[in-house]
Amino acid sequence: MQYTGLARAEFEAGHQLDSPPRCSRLHGHRYGVEVEVEGRLNHKTSLAVDLDALAESLSALCAELRDRDLNEMMPGVITTPYGVAAWIMERLLATWPVTRVSVTESGSTTATATREVRAHGPAYVTH
Ligand SMILES: [Zn+2]
Repeated sequence: MQYTGLARAEFEAGHQLDSPPRCSRLHGHRYGVEVEVEGRLNHKTSLAVDLDALAESLSALCAELRDRDLNEMMPGVITTPYGVAAWIMERLLATWPVTRVSVTESGSTTATATREVRAHGPAYVTH
């Protein structure tokens, strides 16, 4: 059986997109981030993924982005919520078995990046 867990965090940051009219001027948003991870259960601890540690990692990443210009922080990324979600997923995948990242922009719209998982799931088990 596979198990999933979620961690959430928020930050405020600025960005600018080339495509007018929406977001074409430098401006800010409140971003909500939700990260889903997947793993197999460790029956001794009844944990699949340490969600407190994941939440700490996500909070640290959001602290890096807080009150910054996302265009500067994410070189080469078009900072739509899709682009921000993909960037966050790439950063967290170095450590965590992330399957989905959703980014909500100013509480109104949400974009999701999803990673396809192999048939047997990610080879991630806590010990
Ligand atoms: Zn915007």
